Amino acid sequence: MKVSMSKGLILNDCLHFINGQYVSSVNGKVFKNVNPATEEEIGIVAEGGREEVDFAVREARKALNGPWKKLTLNDRSSIIRKIGDIILERVEELAEMESLDTGKPLWLAKSVDIPRAAYNFHFFADYMIGIGTEAYQTDDVAINYAIRRPVGVVGLINPWNLPLLLLTWKLAPCLAAGNTCVIKPAELTPVTATVLGEICREAGVPDGVVNIVHGFGPDSAGQALAEHLDVNAISFTGETITGKTIMAAASKSLKRLSYELGGKNPNIIFADSNVDEVIETTVKSSFINQGEVCLCGSRIYVERPVYEEFLQKFVAKTKQLVVGDPFDPKTKVGALIGEEHYERVTSYIQLAKEEGGQILTGGKRPEGLEKGYFLEPTIITGLDRNCQVVREEIFGPVVTVIPFDLEEEVIAQANDTHYGLSASIWTNDLRRAHRVAGQIEAGIVWVNTWFLRDLRTPFGGMKQSGIGREGGMHSMEFYSELTNICIKL
Ligand code: NAD
Repeated sequence: MKVSMSKGLILNDCLHFINGQYVSSVNGKVFKNVNPATEEEIGIVAEGGREEVDFAVREARKALNGPWKKLTLNDRSSIIRKIGDIILERVEELAEMESLDTGKPLWLAKSVDIPRAAYNFHFFADYMIGIGTEAYQTDDVAINYAIRRPVGVVGLINPWNLPLLLLTWKLAPCLAAGNTCVIKPAELTPVTATVLGEICREAGVPDGVVNIVHGFGPDSAGQALAEHLDVNAISFTGETITGKTIMAAASKSLKRLSYELGGKNPNIIFADSNVDEVIETTVKSSFINQGEVCLCGSRIYVERPVYEEFLQKFVAKTKQLVVGDPFDPKTKVGALIGEEHYERVTSYIQLAKEEGGQILTGGKRPEGLEKGYFLEPTIITGLDRNCQVVREEIFGPVVTVIPFDLEEEVIAQANDTHYGLSASIWTNDLRRAHRVAGQIEAGIVWVNTWFLRDLRTPFGGMKQSGIGREGGMHSMEFYSELTNICIKL
């Protein structure tokens, strides 16, 4: 299959993008890119390593003090806004690429992933204009003021679940603060990142400011970037365990780190909530994007009086979800990302059975779909808090439902994890909403909703779900250095 991209690139050419040019690996090495919905090869990807990362970092370092630095704030903001505009102009094409690459439904890529990628640039283009710095007068003795400057060359390491959306969530503030960067896209989803190179060039980003090196993680491009002595900071989104390895590698030059990691998020439903409204959102928070969203609420706790009603309605709604061809508008659940991940997710279903769990729906490949990594949305009950299936991140369309009796009990269960990314609480009791939200150990707690985001607000995880926060000023703080200038009067 060949999907045309502008400038003669086709989907089977995912090259590196360094200093404004598409280039192959020095040794010509490539790896295959597979469509998870068909298991067919859809292209080849240049496999980068230390040499390509060295080259990209060198160019990014040169560009830091080149024309990028000389642009006025307004000109830089216009370029960043233009990137968003071009993404919107190419929304159809980018959504098709994202769907082919990830297995996610096309409508989802078209209505969420790609528009949000554009909005990330529009948001930071506006936001950067309004940022000031601090100033203090120390009696009659001195005045102090802070100046903000770029951190330098930043490594952006990305996961496969929301490829363009999450990459641009880092790239937009990184550029807004005046940095240059080297991007390492996930090896399973290289396509939209590759196209972003030419979009940046067309928008007027000077050569060398945005560089992209494809490859794998350990002993490959990812590790080389994390270890590189001339990279000042790493912004990483991915698995907690990978974050630990990157931290060790980055310690060689004491890099600044921003981490958005895994989650095992509680979805707490009190009996006083509107069960029909809860079901509507819970189906989404459980199974959207095949459950491959770090914020999915995979541990569902339901207060005993509505437990049976909730289960019956939740199972019925889940059974209606159409699983299959991501390009079919009726499809609600596409294919999981790849074979290895499919094996991992289904191994948890097997484990649930061995641990005494009941599979109320799903748990298997849908009939008639022999090819592709398709799995029916799966609801499991009968497991207790100590089971691995309840404790570990599965990152697929698999949720557990557990009843509870007391508020203190459910708070303790929700917090009984080394993760702390997000949580949802469903209740119509105002006092309880505030009381419980304040006690849940998570970076974001939604009350009577899920996935609602204002990009000015802090986003990130507690405990082993992350380090630091992204969003608005939090992103700008990460991507900039402050110098305080103290003048004696
Ligand atoms: P992953 O950790 O396997 O890979 C992420 C990226 O890191 C890839 O580009 C990979 O090549 C690279 N990498 C792997 N090993 C490396 C190493 N040793 N050194 C440097 N780079 C390395 O994660 P994934 O499977 O792509 O993504 C799924 C995970 O991401 C889930 O745990 C999910 O919860 C998490 N996630 C978190 C958020 C968030 O905002 N908190 C958002 C999306 C995904």
